[in-house]
Amino acid sequence: MMKVSQFTTSLPYEGNVLLFNSFTDHFILVKPVLKELLDASKEAGDVEGLKNYHPAFFEELQKQGFILDAAHDEVEEVKKVSRKVDSDVSKYLLTINPTMGCNFKCWYCYETHVPGSKMAEDTIENVLKFVRREKEENKELKFFSMSFFGGEPLIYYDQVVVPLLKGAKSIFQDSDIVFGSSFTTNGYLLNQEKIDFLKAHSVSGMQITLDGSEAFHDKVRYVNANKGSYKKIISNIKLLAKNGMQITMRINFTRDNFISCLDIANDFDDLNVKYKKNILVDFHQVWQDEEGETVSTIPATDKFMTAGFNIRAKATNLNNVVDSCYADKMNSATINYNGEVFKCTARDFTTDNSLGVLHSDGTVIWKDEYLRRQNAKFHNAPCLECKLMPLCNGGCSQHAYEHLDDEKGYCVFGFDEYKKDEIILERFRLKVS
Ligand code: SF4
Ligand code: SF4
Repeated sequence: MMKVSQFTTSLPYEGNVLLFNSFTDHFILVKPVLKELLDASKEAGDVEGLKNYHPAFFEELQKQGFILDAAHDEVEEVKKVSRKVDSDVSKYLLTINPTMGCNFKCWYCYETHVPGSKMAEDTIENVLKFVRREKEENKELKFFSMSFFGGEPLIYYDQVVVPLLKGAKSIFQDSDIVFGSSFTTNGYLLNQEKIDFLKAHSVSGMQITLDGSEAFHDKVRYVNANKGSYKKIISNIKLLAKNGMQITMRINFTRDNFISCLDIANDFDDLNVKYKKNILVDFHQVWQDEEGETVSTIPATDKFMTAGFNIRAKATNLNNVVDSCYADKMNSATINYNGEVFKCTARDFTTDNSLGVLHSDGTVIWKDEYLRRQNAKFHNAPCLECKLMPLCNGGCSQHAYEHLDDEKGYCVFGFDEYKKDEIILERFRLKVS
C-alpha cells in the first residue's frame, strides 16, 4: 500500500498546480488534471492505482517523495535527521559575551545592558580551560568555533577579545582541528588595525545590523543625542568586505520603513561588485511589527541582488531541522561575561534563565533544567501533523522549550495556512530565479 506524503502541499500557480514536499524539498509543477488524478486516487484509498492511469506521473511522484510506502513513519524520519544534526560532535559552537554593556543606547535593548560588566581575567582563563578540555576530550572534534556576542563585544576588545582569540588560536595551532571565529557586532568600533588582528586570528565573519535606511537607523541606533551611527557602520562594512571578511548585513524593517530600506543598496554604489559578494543581506521584519500583515521582501531582495549583493531570503531561512540553530545543538554553549552558561542567545542573560555555570577547572556544571530544554523538540502536537514540519519543526529548541507546558500547542505562524503557503511560494520563486 502506498500513501501521499503528509509533507505535501499543493498550490495554484499560474494556471498550473505546484506540488511541494517539505521533507525532500522538491517541487513539481503539474497540469490541474494531474492533480485531480492524484486527489481521486487518494480519496479512493488507492494511490497505487494512479500507476495505471499515468505511470510516468506516478513514477515521478514516487521518485520525489510525494508518494511512499504507507508503513513509512515520516515523522520518525524527521526526528532521525534532527537528532543526527543536533548531536553532531564533530563541531563545537561556543559563544562568548565579553560584556553586557554597549556603546549605543538603542531603546529596544538598552534595558538589558549591564553597565561596567566585563569578563574578568579569571573567567577568561576558565573559558580557555574549557576550550582546551573540549580539544583534548572530544576525539571526534574537527571544528571549533568561538563567536563573540553581547552586549557589544568590541568595547572590551583589548581586555577580553584579544586574549581569548590569542589563547584559543594557540590551543588549536598544532592540531588538525580547524579553529574559526565570528562576531555579532554593531560594527561601529572597527578599524583596519583591528581587522588585521582579527583576520590573523581566524575571524572570518561578522553579523552587523541596520535598522532601516540612514534616517530610520540613526533614530534608533545612536551614540548620543546628536550623533547617529549609520555612516560609520556602512563605511566599516565596506572596509570589512574589502578585507575579504564575510558579512551578514541584517536589515531590520517595519511595514512603515520597508520601502526606504531599498535606499541602503545605493549607499554601496561606490563598492566594487567583487566586494559586494562578501555581503549577505538578510531582511527581518521586527517582532514589534509581527501582528498583522507580513511584508513581502521580494522588491528589496530583487534590488539588492541586481546590485550584486548576496541575499538570504526568508524562505531559504526556513530550514530548522537540517540547519538548526546553534543553540539546538548538543555541542554548543554561550558563556556570559560572569561565567554563567546559556544555550539560546535571544533571551535575557539573567541568572534565572541560565542553564549552567563555568567552573575554575574549565567544566560546565549544567542545571537539571538543561536536559528538559535539550529534549523539548517534538512535543508540540500541531507540528507532528503539519505539512511544513521538516522545514519548520516549531521553530527552534527555545520555542519548543517555552511551550512545553502549553497543552493546546502552538504554531510560529499562528496556524495561518496562508503564511505557510507564502513561504513555499517564495521558496519556489527563489529556486527558479
Ligand atoms: S530563539 Fe531559537 S533560533 Fe533564536 S537563538 Fe534562541 S534557540 Fe536559536
Ligand atoms: S510551528 Fe506551525 S508551521 Fe511550524 S511545524 Fe509547527 S504547526 Fe507547522
